[in-house]
Amino acid sequence: MESWRQPYLRTLPAVDVVVGIYQRTAAINYPHHLLVRGAQEIVDSLRQQILEAAGEQLLAGLAVTPEEVAVRLDTWLHTLAGPALRRVINATGTILHTNLGRATLAPAARQAVLAAAGYCNLEQDLREGKRGSRHDLVEKLLLCLTGAEAACVVNNNAAAVLLCLNTLAAGRKVIVSRGELVEIGGSFRIPEVMKASGARLVEVGTTNKTRLSDYSEAIDDETALLLKVHTSNYRIIGFTSAVDVAELAYLSGKCGVPLMEDLGSGLLVDLGPYGLGGEPLVAERVAAGVDLLTMSGDKLLGGPQAGLILGRRELVARIRKNQLMRALRPDKLTLAALEATLRIYLSGEPLREVPVLAMLTVPPETLRRRAERLAETVRRSSAGKLAASVREERSFVGGGAMPEARLPTFVVAIPLRGEAGTEWLRRLRQGSPPLLGRVQDSTLLLDLRTVAEDEEEEVVRCLLM
Ligand SMILES: *Cc1c(COP(=O)(O)O)cnc(C)c1O
Repeated sequence: MESWRQPYLRTLPAVDVVVGIYQRTAAINYPHHLLVRGAQEIVDSLRQQILEAAGEQLLAGLAVTPEEVAVRLDTWLHTLAGPALRRVINATGTILHTNLGRATLAPAARQAVLAAAGYCNLEQDLREGKRGSRHDLVEKLLLCLTGAEAACVVNNNAAAVLLCLNTLAAGRKVIVSRGELVEIGGSFRIPEVMKASGARLVEVGTTNKTRLSDYSEAIDDETALLLKVHTSNYRIIGFTSAVDVAELAYLSGKCGVPLMEDLGSGLLVDLGPYGLGGEPLVAERVAAGVDLLTMSGDKLLGGPQAGLILGRRELVARIRKNQLMRALRPDKLTLAALEATLRIYLSGEPLREVPVLAMLTVPPETLRRRAERLAETVRRSSAGKLAASVREERSFVGGGAMPEARLPTFVVAIPLRGEAGTEWLRRLRQGSPPLLGRVQDSTLLLDLRTVAEDEEEEVVRCLLM
């Protein structure tokens, strides 16, 4: 070992010395074992840093005195004691941002979560005074909104697909078009989910073309399901053809093999008038004769993470009885948020009250006005230090939904200057609340489409910190 490392290693303090210093000054009484663990981790990482430094100059000013390590221990404990899951301001312009918790819930849904956090009638029938089913809490609402015969809810859409396949097709064949063997976000791949469910995948057609005859020729005694998968996050364009749902429903009826569709997003209202057509509507699919539908609660439906299963009464009844249901069922907080969100569709104004839909349909002119006002405030209150300007950009739906949607927007653009800019971004990410925007060509872009109006003041505070 090079001799210049030795003095640094020798000065590394003993763990109990650091703990002793900390205890003499500490305001909070953390358990002793925690102090030892924190001090050990810090000393270990310092030792690692000394051993791995490529040159002596990289160790200049390394904080290795017992007092300095005790200060780091204080930070370590603060981080541990503070919440890891925090509210953030999403100024990225991506509405269903997977890293930021996908759909943001309506105020009514947030209140419902809070109310259900205590005791609630999760599985108690209050009218009859006997045991109830948690699925009944939202089933009626789902039926009224979609026209389906029966419904149940699980933890997410991946669970819904798994449960349906396992219940209806374990040990038997499921026919899927080659153009629909999709992967959604890394860990959800149709062939793999199929394997995990115990069903056997039968691929038909080609990547770009699948005909009705491809399905009908593949049906035999062992076929349990025809499966259609919405290619949520990509499009095949050019020389293509896919079989229409109505045609598949006809074939399914003729052969007595149920048709299931994984819809991905559960869009309940037509966004065609807002230039966002093309995404299948749940009620349309029910009417077209699909026997079983699955979708996410937290994509275009704008509710909590959940998987909705809608379909024929006898199929849903079998699914509810599957032993796996116990492992995949939603908790009371999810059901509370889902019910409140669905109620908005039933008797409220979803385009105004469901944040995901409001963000999708807000007029660009409104976004321009808000961006100009924010840019002006930022310039004025930073005394010109932050050169905020407004420019035209595009926002994204995200969450693997509507990959082609064009959402014109106006963003507040703030130039980032080298190292200091990178450091500033880090501070914004770690601020309270953390502020996340988009970075493009050394410029921070803040898209107000995904920022609530009452968060704008906070955005200014974060930027000036
Ligand atoms: C998003 C998606 C899934 C996974 O849904 P989660 O709710 O994230 O589990 C499955 N299938 C399709 C087609 C999807 O778009």
